[in-house]
Amino acid sequence: MKTVIVVHGGAWAIPDELAEASVAGVKNAVRAGDTVLKNGGSALDAVEKAVRSLEDDPTFDAGHGAVLNIDGEVELDSIIMDGETLAAGAVACVRNIANPVSLARAVMEKTDHVMLTDRGASMFAERIGTPVAHDLVTEPERKEWEHCKSYHAGVKMLFNTQWGHDTVGAVALDSFGNVACATSTGGIRNKMVGRVGDSPIIGSGGYADNRSGAVSCTGHGESILKVTLARLILFHMEQGDSSTAAAAASLQYMCERVKGCGGAVVLSSSGDWAASFTTPRMAWASIKEDVLHYGLNPKEEFTEMPK
Ligand code: ASP
Repeated sequence: MKTVIVVHGGAWAIPDELAEASVAGVKNAVRAGDTVLKNGGSALDAVEKAVRSLEDDPTFDAGHGAVLNIDGEVELDSIIMDGETLAAGAVACVRNIANPVSLARAVMEKTDHVMLTDRGASMFAERIGTPVAHDLVTEPERKEWEHCKSYHAGVKMLFNTQWGHDTVGAVALDSFGNVACATSTGGIRNKMVGRVGDSPIIGSGGYADNRSGAVSCTGHGESILKVTLARLILFHMEQGDSSTAAAAASLQYMCERVKGCGGAVVLSSSGDWAASFTTPRMAWASIKEDVLHYGLNPKEEFTEMPK
């Protein structure tokens, strides 16, 4: 089976000064995930690796560089899901964890539960020896946060301003024919303490099922939750739509029903993929059959052949 991986770095009005770093970040991440697949690794390993790379990159709102809540703190959400077994793991409102996607994977593999939040997630992280990170807040984010103290102002001009929300995610198909997804975020700047968006919620921020495919979403969390976007996209694929058509129909539905904008990376179990968004920009990259595709602006697609 031919392997495929698609990643995104968040759907929003990415300012020009972040454009280059965003594209470089998704290209690095997709290469990291592709190497895992090329070495015979699983789709789960590949999406975890790709998302860790994006969490470690301060350009993106996940792990290092996450946006701050109303109290100026980092609270992170993440999900990972295995399309072979429908096993899923998620964490919400975790602090001081550099790679929430790996903690989500540990929830999936080492507990009887699908999601742990806040204190329980921290206790679990400590028990399994996850290192504590004290350097997740970056200087540019602290400045942005001081500059824009209103959540409502941000949401009003939602994903149409330069105020960051920059969730990251990946979907992959491995050589065994299994799909997986992972999503990770710091959420939306100035969110209430304890606010959980779509990202860690199964069926909203991500979903993976070998019988249809895998999806990782980004955009206005409250809108995505209301339409369970990841599952909605897969529903359309189950009805026979291509990845591109399913993403377009679902994003359009979210726009019509709740006026929400966003994006998604989508992959069918047969390797048909899409990177779609209704925001001004979304950095994305994919590798299929050694060819790297990437883009940032609507309808843009660049191709890099293997060296
Ligand atoms: N969906 C994320 C949230 O609402 C934000 C984003 O994708 O940029 O938490």
